[in-house]
Amino acid sequence: MTIKNIVHLPEPILRKKAKAVTEFNKELQTLIDDMFETMREAPGVGLAAPQIDLPLRLAVVEYLADEEAPEDEDSENPPKKKQYILINPEIVHASEEKVLGVEGCLSIPGILGEVERHEAIQVKGLNRHGKPVKFKVKGWTARIFQHEMDHLDGVLFTDKAVRVWQAKEEEE
Ligand code: ZN
Repeated sequence: MTIKNIVHLPEPILRKKAKAVTEFNKELQTLIDDMFETMREAPGVGLAAPQIDLPLRLAVVEYLADEEAPEDEDSENPPKKKQYILINPEIVHASEEKVLGVEGCLSIPGILGEVERHEAIQVKGLNRHGKPVKFKVKGWTARIFQHEMDHLDGVLFTDKAVRVWQAKEEEE
């Protein structure tokens, strides 16, 4: 597997609307695996194709379930890995309830911001083989999904943040 180079602002691709994925060939499978590797190495919890200089509607998300709810930590049940592949994703339903939370972005190193997102969303898209899939997600997962899906339209969290600030080293 290959670790891809993550592009940073002001790279113009980060501001472009990405194109639908239409080919579900071997190259796409390798690309998806490379994106997971690149995200883990960074490390991050989500990575969209435009962030590795590819104008495609594709993003990967992965994190340990206990990162979402540390208070649920249970030593007898090790944290579960949550993993999602978003291909040509579309929000089909969004909760009226919105929540504020802190975000960062691998393409905007050193900056954090507080962003309002839908608390829960339903998303339809395709899996890595081109078959239709639907996700119902809430909380932190819904936040990551919305952040990554924005990347596919050239939108960055700093566009939506109610405030942004310089991260201290330990926060990054
Ligand atoms: Zn990002």
